[in-house]
Amino acid sequence: MFLMQKYKLPWNERYRIDPDTGCWNWLMSLSHGAAQLHAVVDGERKTIRAYRFAWEQVNGPIPPGVQIRHDCDNAACVNPDHLRLGTQLDNVRDMDKRKRANRGYTSKSQLTSSQVRDIRFRLEVLGDTLISVARDFEMSRMQIRRIRDRQAWARID
Ligand SMILES: [Zn+2]
Repeated sequence: MFLMQKYKLPWNERYRIDPDTGCWNWLMSLSHGAAQLHAVVDGERKTIRAYRFAWEQVNGPIPPGVQIRHDCDNAACVNPDHLRLGTQLDNVRDMDKRKRANRGYTSKSQLTSSQVRDIRFRLEVLGDTLISVARDFEMSRMQIRRIRDRQAWARID
């Protein structure tokens, strides 16, 4: 655990909340899109992942070798509600999923029109969050947002 009082800027001024996704988007430095934090740990200056710090503030120390995963798929997010412990295997699976997406095999193409309607119903009628719908359909928040905004599956209403 790291000491809060070492920081010049209060924690809650270091991110901005996205009202749409609930993400706490890090305003400070990013490394490959991931929130990072310069901190003093056991008297040593270190650069750590800001979301690891965020998770520890709520849940206590992260066990050694364990990764923090973003349910929102947004590495710049430090909202503890969007973070959970993962394993190396989870990360490998994520990587595979992203690689497949980059080759054009997005899970969007596997959706049926009734699933598209379900997604929009949950967002627009039930008021579910992008995060929870994305999780249930095993899609990214971005893909769900595109479906909601009719940038994807526009011909289905
Ligand atoms: Zn988030």
